[in-house]
Amino acid sequence: MAIINFGSINIDHVYLVPHFVKPGETLSSTDYHSVLGGKGANQSIAAALAGSDVKHVGSVHKNDAGFTHSIRASGVDCTHIKEQTSVATGHAIIQVTEDGENAIVLFSGANHALDLQQIDDALEVASPNDWVLLQNETNAIGSVINAAAKKGLKVAFNPAPMTRDVHRLPLEKVDLLIVNEVEAMQLVDADSIDKAQTELASRYPQSRIVLTLGKKGVRFIHGKTFVEVPAFTVDALDTTAAGDTFIGYFLKHYGELNLAQAQDTSAESLKKILQTACAASAIAVTRPGAAPSIPHEMEVEAFLEEHLP
Ligand code: ADP
Repeated sequence: MAIINFGSINIDHVYLVPHFVKPGETLSSTDYHSVLGGKGANQSIAAALAGSDVKHVGSVHKNDAGFTHSIRASGVDCTHIKEQTSVATGHAIIQVTEDGENAIVLFSGANHALDLQQIDDALEVASPNDWVLLQNETNAIGSVINAAAKKGLKVAFNPAPMTRDVHRLPLEKVDLLIVNEVEAMQLVDADSIDKAQTELASRYPQSRIVLTLGKKGVRFIHGKTFVEVPAFTVDALDTTAAGDTFIGYFLKHYGELNLAQAQDTSAESLKKILQTACAASAIAVTRPGAAPSIPHEMEVEAFLEEHLP
């Protein structure tokens, strides 16, 4: 089983500033660094570090091809990352103040340059047991879902960041919908997480729903199956990429479980894989940054041995 991730690749330009720049002002920043970002890239890295065969489909400007180095170094197949010449790599200009507040300008750039040929090429080499993974940071999401479903591939979708456009997607073809609390409530316009859960389950009965609840843990809902697992108690330092880490680990193990059991899965085995994904994201929140905070599967195994009786 492979994961074919149609995902974003961003460069985060981070500037340390005394205050956010005001209209007409020219402000010197006291520090600068640039790092790889994007939910797509993070999820590919997480799934690869979990031990999965991952193919990333996306694009960057050719001058930034080096930025894909750390994606490749994590074991991700980058053959389907297209180098663009006329559009900038997706990026974020992030002002950060001393007290940790941030203000962000985002440009989707090459993340919105996926073309039909690239989609066809990536899906052409897919095997029947592969999963297609998507977030809401690229273009052509509906086309990818339709094309993947037509080929009989399983589709996992993480509608993050949530936008109104998501309502127009063919979500009835999604096999695995992974949402955090905000996304869940916005997706079905609910004012509580329990109402959102009930509404999601009734609107998308074909889909397995995974609801991540931050430090409260995670729920898996499908038909009569309901499994809830608490998060691990850790000293959280930086929760960036907690959800991305969870998704990469969960999909790797859920995909394999699905395959081994040929149909649906027992509550006990689901609990185990939810715990594994919770452990991976618990480790990630104890570390700074996004992609660099994602642990290797061996670290996750050691964590589970230490924290589970
Ligand atoms: P997102 O990052 O997409 O908002 P969540 O905040 O729901 O997603 O986090 C995803 C998963 O990461 C949670 O289900 C949980 O297992 C883990 N996690 C997040 N925050 C913490 C925390 N403070 N302590 C331990 N685990 C956490």
